[in-house]
Amino acid sequence: MTPVPGILFIVAAPSGAGKSTLVNALLAREPDISLSISYTDRAPRPGESDGKHYHFVDRATFDAMAAAGDFFEYADVHGDRKGTARTAVEPLLAAGRDVLLEIDWQGARTVRAAKPDCVTIFILPPSRAELERRLRARATDSEATIARRLANSREEISHAPEFDYILVNDRFEDALADLQAIVRATRLRQPLQRARHAALIEELLKA
Ligand code: GDP
Ligand code: ADP
Ligand code: 5GP
Repeated sequence: MTPVPGILFIVAAPSGAGKSTLVNALLAREPDISLSISYTDRAPRPGESDGKHYHFVDRATFDAMAAAGDFFEYADVHGDRKGTARTAVEPLLAAGRDVLLEIDWQGARTVRAAKPDCVTIFILPPSRAELERRLRARATDSEATIARRLANSREEISHAPEFDYILVNDRFEDALADLQAIVRATRLRQPLQRARHAALIEELLKA
């Protein structure tokens, strides 16, 4: 019997809104979701390791992968290339696993066009001052990088209306509960539940 296909979730946010922190906490609560590890040509930050946070590759390798059609989506983000490998998405969905992508608005647009039944979530910071504070609190980026990310945040946030859900990450536990609620409600949608419980429904309908 072919499994019910997995659900594809996309989470986007301006840099520093708390996207990675929220996603990691979600995955600890919902271990049946696979996080796609992106490819990038940017340098690792202190504490980032290859294969865990990203697959770090040089630009020539990234471009060769793009030319070979290895990416489900890719984009230029803040001057760095970022891409989702097909192998991190398609075989998993086909096997019935839910997959989560942490990607920018451009990537979300590409994926939405290819797979309209994906579920997209945008995370907002509670204020501009708090966004700036979090970017600095992370203490992993140079002043120039922080300034560029803050400047780019307006463009990213301007695309929030393209997403299915908008979360405000003010109190962390509340935002995490909201994110988990979206995942759980999506899994309970009628077509998926009908496919999963076909035998039960048939049994209950018997005379
Ligand atoms: P962060 O914004 O502080 O998490 O810094 P990163 O350098 O990790 O990511 C910068 C941007 O690239 C964020 O908007 C990510 O969502 C986006 N991004 C990460 N991986 C991918 C990817 O595979 N594809 C696309 N299109 N965007 C990505
Ligand atoms: P992003 O992945 O969106 O760039 P991060 O997950 O790296 O953001 O979060 C940026 C910083 O903000 C981190 O230091 C993180 O611990 C902190 N942070 C995340 N959520 C909250 C929150 N609700 N309240 C306070 N700080 C937070
Ligand atoms: P750090 O990167 O030094 O661990 O944290 C940076 C800032 O983000 C600190 O102000 C810290 O309290 C806040 N922070 C980090 N993780 C969380 C979290 O999970 N929940 C909340 N509420 N704040 C967090």
